[in-house]
Amino acid sequence: MNIGFIGLGIMGGPMAANLVKAGHTVRGHDVSAAPVERLAALGGEAATGVPDAVEGADVVITMLPDSPQVEEVAPLVVAHGRPGLLYLDMSTIRPETSRRVAREAAAAGVRALDAPVSGGERGAVDATLSIMVGGEKEAYEAARPVLGALGTTIVHVGPAGAGQTVKAANQLVVGGIYGLVAEAIVLLEASGVDPAAGLDVLAGGLAGSRILELKRHTMIRREFTPGFRIDLHHKDMGIAVAAARQAGVALPLTGQVAQLVAAARAQGHGSLDHSALLKVVERLNT
Ligand code: NAD
Repeated sequence: MNIGFIGLGIMGGPMAANLVKAGHTVRGHDVSAAPVERLAALGGEAATGVPDAVEGADVVITMLPDSPQVEEVAPLVVAHGRPGLLYLDMSTIRPETSRRVAREAAAAGVRALDAPVSGGERGAVDATLSIMVGGEKEAYEAARPVLGALGTTIVHVGPAGAGQTVKAANQLVVGGIYGLVAEAIVLLEASGVDPAAGLDVLAGGLAGSRILELKRHTMIRREFTPGFRIDLHHKDMGIAVAAARQAGVALPLTGQVAQLVAAARAQGHGSLDHSALLKVVERLNT
């Protein structure tokens, strides 16, 4: 297929590379030149802008930081896309933005899906992402072969915006677990118990989680190279809190986690990995 790919950052770069590997023709665009050159060196094509990436494409994918960037790019995708174009926005943004994009796309004969991902840079590189898809079932079925080159768990979760709501739920769980693992480390260390031994036991019992499995050693060593930046998790907690407000529900733990992530950012840790929530819990205790 001819695929236009816009936003070639930490996630989009390796995802576009995997589509090239799967045999697709990929025309990439990014506001920064270096990742476009990297894609071209891997067998992709360099587009001169959004219209050039979109014209003639069967599928267009955007992987942008946040809602404002999607709001800027999506109208160009719709304006320059051919009728019947499949447009997959894989960025993590507000559900209502995804719903609006889908409505405006449908009015122009473009099939839009929200398809945010979980699994991090590793998942993007290894093509093992979890992908939660919102939108028309027929468009989801059409997108399945392309998504299959990017991830291993691919689920249609409901109408437009539902993918983003599931992603918001994912992010509040991830943030909450990081916060509690941080509190466990602070408790163990303050009590004179070896945190490595303690967390090894937790990881093997009911408290076990993928976060404990992958991150406990680096957290104990205070290594916070991202990964997933606090700045992006702050954005995602904002989406979760706004989604709860819109749905008319109270999520008190989500509110607390959102404030801890905000504190991490205010303390200057925005560019560190989200496991740096440990720094905030430590600061509360020193
Ligand atoms: P990133 O900042 O590394 O990449 C975003 C890319 O978009 C950058 O290369 C930037 O130059 C480009 N860009 C920005 N505005 C643009 C525009 N108007 N036109 C074209 N290109 C533009 O971010 P990332 O880590 O790749 O994350 C992308 C999205 O995926 C975010 O919504 C993030 O929340 C989500 N996400 C990230 C991870 C992760 O572990 N990094 C995991 C899951 C989901």
